[in-house]
Amino acid sequence: MNIIFLGPPGSGKGTQARKLAEEKDFLHLSTGQMLRDMQAEMPELKKIMDKGDLVDDDLLMNSLYEYLEKNNLKDKVIIDGSPRTLYQYENMIEWFKKNISPIEKVIFIKISEEEAVRRLSSRRTDKNTGIVYNLVTNPPPSGVKPEDLVQRADDNPESIKERYQVYHESTEPVVQAARKDGILHEIDGERPIDEIFEDIKALFK
Ligand code: AMP
Repeated sequence: MNIIFLGPPGSGKGTQARKLAEEKDFLHLSTGQMLRDMQAEMPELKKIMDKGDLVDDDLLMNSLYEYLEKNNLKDKVIIDGSPRTLYQYENMIEWFKKNISPIEKVIFIKISEEEAVRRLSSRRTDKNTGIVYNLVTNPPPSGVKPEDLVQRADDNPESIKERYQVYHESTEPVVQAARKDGILHEIDGERPIDEIFEDIKALFK
């Protein structure tokens, strides 16, 4: 089985996807992180992503499929942050079915825009470990040095606004399609991390 995590920017989908991958021994694959890792070789990506726009559908999917094939991943993959367009959704559903194994669940973390924007402004990443914290809702433990905590280039007010617009226009139709296909599971994201995680785990009982 493979799983997709979807949600608006700041919904906490990455945190939950990582926790579930650890608990269930799945591979956690964030396409945002994959693309950030590609920026060194493709500087044009950084410009698009820092502004909050989506990268090209085919570039995203080819990179994702290449990664899955190269690492011989056939099952137990959690895709965090894709598909973000209806075209990606339809392509990924077919590709997974044909080439590895089906996508069985789309876990959608629901949150109000107001709460998500509030969270994004206090999101920080430990540049040494890549662990993502939130200064308000999920503060780093005492051993983490404040100077190691960095803010993502796209967590600024203009990019956040753009990412929301893109989300409404391009990604909300994916949520509707997954609902129509009967694979959508909606989770209330405006609660403490562990409470949300309990609900997600219950989907696998
Ligand atoms: P995320 O880490 O999921 O917030 O993604 C960060 C950025 O990566 C997004 O704002 C997009 O620019 C890009 N990105 C990630 N996944 C996709 C995707 N499926 N399609 C297009 N762009 C993506």
